[in-house]
Amino acid sequence: MNTLASKVVLVTGASRGIGAAVAHKLAAEGAKVIINYAGGKEAADQTVNSIKQQGGDAIALQADVSKADEVAAMFDAAIAHYSKIDVLVNNAGIMITKLIKDTTDEDFTRQFEINVRGTFNTMREAATKLANGGSIINFSSTTTRVMMPTYATYVATKGAVEQLTRVFAKEVGARGINVNTVSPGPTNTELFTKGKPQEIIDRLASLSAFNRIGEPEDIAKIVTFLANDDAKWISAQNIGANGAMA
Ligand code: NDP
Repeated sequence: MNTLASKVVLVTGASRGIGAAVAHKLAAEGAKVIINYAGGKEAADQTVNSIKQQGGDAIALQADVSKADEVAAMFDAAIAHYSKIDVLVNNAGIMITKLIKDTTDEDFTRQFEINVRGTFNTMREAATKLANGGSIINFSSTTTRVMMPTYATYVATKGAVEQLTRVFAKEVGARGINVNTVSPGPTNTELFTKGKPQEIIDRLASLSAFNRIGEPEDIAKIVTFLANDDAKWISAQNIGANGAMA
């Protein structure tokens, strides 16, 4: 059964990683999907083509989520193409891991601009432009529950996303929109694996009850459930998706 057959979904940062897996899964459930990307046009086009080859419907739209004007233009272009947006998945994010003493002003600003302002920008557009009865799924991280050195700034951005979610859920509930956060544990994408020795990956894998790290598809299934009307009564929650890591 195509559970999302009538839905239009905007997934930020869907050119690769978890966002691309989310886009594929939502399309497989029948949703029309807007693949947002910042710089990776080729990867975004590949995601669109692969969805279309599997019988799905998708378009790619470029916008740096940290830029309010680009986000507004993306919402308008998506609505012009598909007539509406039902579901917003705020997946785009970056991670810079450094001890606080080594974190530069630029490291700090970049992470807050993309992870926090990016989520804020899309939610502000969604406040008036998302269809009644829609859903919003924001992305935090299990790192907000596990205090690991070098993650302070990243965790601060994700903590802010969790709080934005809790308040926004109360602001848009009257329109039938539910808003939740998903907090993945270590997941097999470039963001997590780049520059990490295998022994560190294995050690983090051992912290899950299943002795493995997550795959993007593990997270995509949870996002798909939250995008479904059956999950409507879940709102303002932070769902850990980490195999019992924390
Ligand atoms: P990746 O680095 O694999 O992919 C990041 C995606 O975000 C890319 O599609 C990238 O597009 C996009 N992106 C980056 N900056 C911007 C921007 N300014 N505007 C629009 N899009 C942008 O990351 P993951 O898939 O691993 O992470 C996805 C989300 O999950 C993030 O929010 C991350 O914090 C969170 N997360 C990930 C975990 C993990 O272990 N992987 C664990 C916990 C949370 P482009 O290439 O075009 O720039």
